[in-house]
Amino acid sequence: MAGSGLLMACQSRSDQSKEAEKQSTQNEEKKKGKLGIALVGLGKYSEEQLAPALEETNQCYLAGIVTGTPEKAEKWKTKYDIPEKNIYNYETFDTIKDNPDIDIVYVVLPNSMHAEYTVRAAKAGKHVICEKPMALTVAECDQMIAACKEAGKMLSIGYRLHFEPYNLEMVRLAETKTFGNLKKIKAENGMNGTEGWRVDKELSGGGPLPDVGIYCIQAVRYTTGQEPLAVRAKEGPKKDKEFFKEVEASLTWEMEMPGGVIAECKSSYEEDMSLLRAEADKGFFELKPAYGYSGQKGETSQGKMDLPKVNQQALQMDDFAEAITKKRPTPVPGEMGRQDVKIINAIYEAMKTGKRVEIPA
Ligand code: NAD
Repeated sequence: MAGSGLLMACQSRSDQSKEAEKQSTQNEEKKKGKLGIALVGLGKYSEEQLAPALEETNQCYLAGIVTGTPEKAEKWKTKYDIPEKNIYNYETFDTIKDNPDIDIVYVVLPNSMHAEYTVRAAKAGKHVICEKPMALTVAECDQMIAACKEAGKMLSIGYRLHFEPYNLEMVRLAETKTFGNLKKIKAENGMNGTEGWRVDKELSGGGPLPDVGIYCIQAVRYTTGQEPLAVRAKEGPKKDKEFFKEVEASLTWEMEMPGGVIAECKSSYEEDMSLLRAEADKGFFELKPAYGYSGQKGETSQGKMDLPKVNQQALQMDDFAEAITKKRPTPVPGEMGRQDVKIINAIYEAMKTGKRVEIPA
């Protein structure tokens, strides 16, 4: 008995010293001026992209996690040296307000949960990055923006392609009119296959449109630098009617831009595609693939693009941390996410009614 008591005492002392070590690592990061990020939802995107990216960031670091799965908490705690006191579940989440290690909460949950967790994070006095699509309705977006404003905290959306050189080159070529005035845009994004909450309408808000089609909406907006006036849309083919019971499997839509440019867009869960093509008076410029985490390839009527490869998520998170520290705006604010949600809902209305739907001001 005495032996096992001693063993337990030693164990607990060693646990305490491990915790102290982890806390001192956190303190070191803070001393370097970095901001602590807590990821909420440890699914595929957090695990495979954001956590590895946070090992490459200079202005922020992985300080905490929020998960409903104790096994994941255990695994992440060891892998990323996260102190016990920076680990939360969905019930204890609000107490994050008392934790000075956490400056930014990054919401990486199914779409329908974005609004609730963004508002709770803001109420806990944290800056927020929320994944795309920002929310399911414009009313939710308004609540999220208002909650962050009220708390005096910043809100940004996980639009990583605003930090990706090939996509930025498309913006530059359009802006400088290198190939003259834009005539037409084509934006297509899709993959063959999906799973889980993404086909559950209540959790996702829709099929490929809010998930991957949103990249086409974004691409048209940043390439033209304009906001669409109206949309037309049509549901596309659905091979697996049983699997896609609640959401579209594919769709096509058009966005009318001011000045007469028409953007032809397409998105699908049953077809691989990744294209952004701009046609102008004196030539074309395009990315294919356009929207992935890496591997963009670009071409213009003058030849191939050759641009640096970057970690998009690391740049995106560093930029937000810098925006907070320097008190400057983020290039990907909540208002930008809100506009996309508005456009998505107009596209769904157009798809349902078969009519041209104007985007409300
Ligand atoms: P995922 O299914 O892999 O992970 C979702 C996480 O949410 C899981 O850890 C799950 O346990 C948790 N969760 C909590 N409550 C849940 C519930 N009621 N139902 C289902 N899961 C629940 O999804 P993901 O691919 O990581 O996507 C998460 C978010 O990130 C989505 O909003 C998605 O649009 C976004 N995302 C963005 C990018 C990007 O490039 N910016 C890429 C992938 C995903």
